[in-house]
Amino acid sequence: MKKRLWKFILPLLMLLGLTTLAGCGNSVASRDTLTDASNSNTIIWGVKADTNLFGLMNIKTGKIQGFDVDLAKAITKEILGPKGKAKFVQVTSDTRMPLLKAGNIDAIIATMTITPDREKQVDFSNIYFKAGGSLLVKKGSPIKSVKDLKKGTKVIVVQGSTYGPEVKAAAPQTKVLQLGDYASAFTALKSGQGDALSTDNGILYGMSLQDKDYRVVGGTYTKEPYGIAVNKGQHAFRRSINEALSKLKENGEYDKIANKWFGDVPGFNVKEVK
Ligand code: GLU
Repeated sequence: MKKRLWKFILPLLMLLGLTTLAGCGNSVASRDTLTDASNSNTIIWGVKADTNLFGLMNIKTGKIQGFDVDLAKAITKEILGPKGKAKFVQVTSDTRMPLLKAGNIDAIIATMTITPDREKQVDFSNIYFKAGGSLLVKKGSPIKSVKDLKKGTKVIVVQGSTYGPEVKAAAPQTKVLQLGDYASAFTALKSGQGDALSTDNGILYGMSLQDKDYRVVGGTYTKEPYGIAVNKGQHAFRRSINEALSKLKENGEYDKIANKWFGDVPGFNVKEVK
């Protein structure tokens, strides 16, 4: 008797599972992010938590702080009004794209360069920060620029960042060591696992502020224009992000936020980022 019952129930359960799965797949694509954000009065932002100056977890408060976080808060208020809430989800260079595509976050504001390859997978806002690729080395290192990355040198980069391919292109002879996030990349540099760390100048200046034994060298060897990424097809949401960005640039709020984080960073020209 029991066996016969399962014969009926099992296929039904499987069917239910399948339709639920299909429903999930559809819901991300068919969702309208701007409408959802207005209804919940919340925008869910993917931000870095390992990147000083842009998005870094403050261990005392448990809050993530930085330029990207402040800009996300300001954009949220522009879009949803003064009571609008910005919620933050921690991402890394490697996890940001899958988290967006799965619908776990509404947008990525996490030191993310607009590249043709990424544009095939997500849509980007207008440029909100102009960075450039550089190198961080220990004081006294013989490496002064990418030209010194010859055979026998090793450069640390972060997985999912633009620098795996970019270091290889600029210095084909060097070895590249990929790590999971910026905290472990900096720790690896300090423990001598590589001769230099390569990523965007702003991120590297953030590290040199944390440890004065390390400095940024050689100027920039790539252009890294940052954009806010949204899922493909979210045209209304992207438009409202762009409108908010222009407004914040016009009314001085953008400059205020940029100066707060980069105004006092020795060697970094905050005027060049806008
Ligand atoms: N801007 C570069 C990128 O999007 C490096 C910074 C990062 O890893 O987020 O890959």
